[in-house]
Amino acid sequence: MSSGRDADPACIFCRIVRGEIPAQRVHEDASTLAFDDLNPQAPVHVLVVPKVHVATVADLTAEDGALAGQMVLAANQVARAKGLAERGYRLIWNCREEAGQSVFHLHLHVLGGRAMKWPPG
Ligand code: 5GP
Ligand code: ZN
Repeated sequence: MSSGRDADPACIFCRIVRGEIPAQRVHEDASTLAFDDLNPQAPVHVLVVPKVHVATVADLTAEDGALAGQMVLAANQVARAKGLAERGYRLIWNCREEAGQSVFHLHLHVLGGRAMKWPPG
């Protein structure tokens, strides 16, 4: 697992960012890319990732405030584009094993299109 900021040749989301693995892209800006999740857990399930390789949300540093903020803004844009802005949506960062993180390239889940339960499992 790499926690550096260089593109990791083996990282699946770095490969999607580079266009080496296909994905249904729904939003892109200078620092982030958003694409449909391969295994959607709701009618809308999009992942927002930084274009640089960051392993987990815990690896963000004080210098990453703008990047973290841009990920949230990108998620909001996705939600608006998918018609979720008024009805609501859920943003999730799974951090490391016990939270269920399975891909170690930071990603923000945008879930919506159905009623969500609380607490999450
Ligand atoms: P995590 O469990 O790490 O929070 O979320 C990883 C997410 O990435 C999962 O929801 C999984 O379905 C998704 N995923 C894994 N591999 C791929 C892939 O190759 N393409 C896309 N679009 N999503 C993927
Ligand atoms: Zn990566």
